[in-house]
Amino acid sequence: MNKNNDDQALCGLSQEQLDAHWMPYSGNREFKKDPRLIVSAKGNYYTSADGRKIFDGLSGLWTCGAGHSRPEIIEAVSRQVKELDYSPAFQYGHPKSFELAHRITELMPEGLNRVFFTGSGSESVETALKVARAYWRKKGQASKTRFIGRVKGYHGVNWGGVSVGGIVGNRALYGQGIDAVHLPHTMLPENLFSKGMPETGAHLADELEAMLALHDASNIAAVIVEPLAGSAGVIPPPVGYLKRLREICDKHNILLIFDEVITGFGRMGSNTGAEEFGVVPDMMTIAKQLTNGVIPMGAMVAKQEIYDTFMEAGGAEYMLELPHGYTYSAHPVACAAGLASLDILAQDKLVERVKTVSPQFQEMLHSLKGTKYVSDIRNYGLAGALTIESAPGEPALRPFQIAMKCWEKGFYVRCGGDTIQLGLPFTVENAEIDNVINALGESINELA
Ligand code: PMP
Repeated sequence: MNKNNDDQALCGLSQEQLDAHWMPYSGNREFKKDPRLIVSAKGNYYTSADGRKIFDGLSGLWTCGAGHSRPEIIEAVSRQVKELDYSPAFQYGHPKSFELAHRITELMPEGLNRVFFTGSGSESVETALKVARAYWRKKGQASKTRFIGRVKGYHGVNWGGVSVGGIVGNRALYGQGIDAVHLPHTMLPENLFSKGMPETGAHLADELEAMLALHDASNIAAVIVEPLAGSAGVIPPPVGYLKRLREICDKHNILLIFDEVITGFGRMGSNTGAEEFGVVPDMMTIAKQLTNGVIPMGAMVAKQEIYDTFMEAGGAEYMLELPHGYTYSAHPVACAAGLASLDILAQDKLVERVKTVSPQFQEMLHSLKGTKYVSDIRNYGLAGALTIESAPGEPALRPFQIAMKCWEKGFYVRCGGDTIQLGLPFTVENAEIDNVINALGESINELA
């Protein structure tokens, strides 16, 4: 039964309708007793079904950095639907996919210049993992099949992504995936409450050497990491860590994949984490901010040498070089949204804006140090998180309760595991930074 009997708050939905939708990454039983429905969005705010303005403290799901309902994207998408609503993804093309691919390469670090479109971050990860294995086969090194991920890594929910991922709760229920082993995470006790990149931890990359000694590089296809781990609760890389990973991968002839589904297109104050941290991977996965979240779309961006390895494979030209792709790869409406979204980032100088406003975000977020239950605070760019001490025997309860209190106060923040996560819109105003952190602090204090 619904606790909330207000018909407006339920948008007239019946219990049967609520039950029909098996919601993703949600406590379905809890939600359906007391639904939190969102009916519209504009700028940095949602409107809830009960008529309240809710500040979007996670930019959707790290998707909508340019703010909601941007007229330029609405216009581009509407035009595209009228002109070409769908076009076959295989063996035929439409101009916008080539335009968008080229535009993306302009925002990539040098060398990453071949773009394979997908429908999501998870599909981008699967694409990168499959390409890595196929690449080594093409090179005559078919034994290179195993992957190295990292504890606390998140790479989406498909089989490959779950296998290389390192969030226990996402793996436990599913059993055997693909062959993957994991580097340790980089959260060290001496780095608690670090601002930006922690000083200590580059040595943890040397664990890769130890793993290669055990598994042998001849069996390893690729290492995959998020430059900044997002879903586990915003874990910036220690100074020097990513560079060291790159050196070890080069030394042992292993591909390095950066999963930049969250960090791509501005969140760190740079176009990519690779640019921000000065380390170029062999492949990069992107999604989310690519279309400002308006239409689902992802991509895997590869170095030309990887692409060329497939193109030079021999055989008749009409043969597929890579038997892989999705019905919705390079969807024309998604491409239109992507082009409009990247235009906005450039025209409004939003990536630069992240750099300008993030010091205030850092200062405000770290002002919560000393608040009860807050055992760590981490941040980079416009991403930040708190670790919340667990209630005895009830992991993840307090973060959920805190997020719900924020929601009641008109602020959407994310609870994930033992963390509260913030990913502010790039368009955030100074007062909004203060407001959301103050509301978060009050919510924690009320719980205490
Ligand atoms: N990789 C990373 C780093 C992500 O943060 C996410 C989504 N949070 C994904 C992959 C999966 O993306 P999607 O949910 O679009 O499949």
